[in-house]
Amino acid sequence: MRKVYLDNNATTRTRKEVVEAMMPYFSEIYGNASSIHHFGRHARHAIDEARTRVARLLNAASAEEIIFTAGGTESDNLAVKGVAYALRNKGNHLITSAIEHHAILNSCKYLEKEGWSVTYLGVDEYGLVNPEGLKKAITDKTVLVSIMYANNEVGTIEPIRELAAVAKARGVYFHADAVQAIGKVPCDVKELGVDLLSMSGHKIYGPKGVGTLYIRKGTKITPLMHGGHHEMGKRAGTENVPAIVGLGKAAELAAKEREAEAKRLTELRDYLYQGITSRIQDVRLNGHPEKRLANTLNVGFKYLEGESIILNLDMEGVAVSTGSACTSGSLEPSHVLMAMGVEPADTQGSIRFSLGRDTSKKDIEYVLEVLPPIIKRLRDMSPLYERK
Ligand code: PLP
Repeated sequence: MRKVYLDNNATTRTRKEVVEAMMPYFSEIYGNASSIHHFGRHARHAIDEARTRVARLLNAASAEEIIFTAGGTESDNLAVKGVAYALRNKGNHLITSAIEHHAILNSCKYLEKEGWSVTYLGVDEYGLVNPEGLKKAITDKTVLVSIMYANNEVGTIEPIRELAAVAKARGVYFHADAVQAIGKVPCDVKELGVDLLSMSGHKIYGPKGVGTLYIRKGTKITPLMHGGHHEMGKRAGTENVPAIVGLGKAAELAAKEREAEAKRLTELRDYLYQGITSRIQDVRLNGHPEKRLANTLNVGFKYLEGESIILNLDMEGVAVSTGSACTSGSLEPSHVLMAMGVEPADTQGSIRFSLGRDTSKKDIEYVLEVLPPIIKRLRDMSPLYERK
C-alpha cells in the first residue's frame, strides 16, 4: 500500500544530509564542548558553527544571540518565564493570543497561578491577531507580548512586524514562536523587530529534542536551568552536540531551499484543496485563504468526527491529524478553531493536511482518490448527516 505522510506540522523526517552531519558526533568527536583538550575543542567548534548557521538563517546581529535548548517547548518556556522573572519588579502583566501552542499557553497559565496576570487576545475568523487590539491591551505593567509567527493547526501567518512595532513603541519585549514558520516564510529577526524568537529542529527536517531561542543582545532574561556556564549563562547543561550539529545543518538547508519549496508546496496544497472541493460537498477551509503557510491545509468536513476520518485514512496508508499533535487523544474541541469562532459541531470534523519536502503530486492524487469514498461512507453512517 502507498504510504503518504501529510503530518509534517507534527514532525518531519530527519533528512539524510542532517543524519550524515550528526553521525561523527556520536562516536568519533564525542568530547564535552566545555573541555579544553582537543576532543572538547572539536565539539565546541561544531557547536559554534551550528550557532553561526542558525544566526545566518535568522539574520541575527551575532551568533551569541542564539541559545540552544531542548526544543521549541523549552524555548517558549524560557522566553515567557525567563522574561517574566527578570522583569518582575517592572510589572506583572503579559499578553499573548488565544491560539498559541500549549507551550506558550500553559507557561502563561503557570505564571497566572504564581501571581502574574495574562491577557489572551482573541483572533478574527481567519485566526489573525489585530495590532489595534494589542495596542489597547498594553498597560504600564506589561513586560512581554508573545504571539506566534504561524499557527500550527491552521497555518495562518500573523502580522508579526506590525505587532512587534506596537510592543516596541511601548518599550515592551516581543517574543515570536516561529516553530512552524521557520523554513516556510522569511524569518529575519531584524526586519521583524522581535526581541526573542523560538524555533525547533524537528519541524525543519532536523532532529527532535533540540531547538533555539534567539535573544536580542541586551534583553533581560532569567535562566530556567541552573548549573554550569553553558550557552552564555542562559541555559546550563552539557550541550547535545550531535543534535545541535543536526539543527545547524537543517537551518543551513532551510535557508537555501525555502523559496523554491514554498512555491512547490503552495501549488500542491491548492491542488489538494481544489480536488477536495470538487469531489466533496459541505467542506470549509479553516485559516486565512492567502496569509497561510504554503504546506498547511485545514479542512472541516461537516457532520463528521475528525478521529474517524484519520483512522480511515490511516487504513489507506495516509497520515493526517486533527490539529496539534500535543492535543490529540483529548476530546476537547480545538482551542484554535474555537477562538476563530468556528461552531463546535464544525470543529469536530476538521482535518489538518500538512505537506512536506517528500510530498509529491502522486501522493496528493492518491489522497484525492481514497478520501471521497471515506467521507461518503462516514456521512452515510452519521446521524447528523441524516438529519441535514
Ligand atoms: N510551538 C509551536 C507553534 C509548535 O507547533 C510546536 C510543536 O508542535 C512547539 C511550539 C513545540 O516544539 P517542540 O515539539 O520542539 O517542543
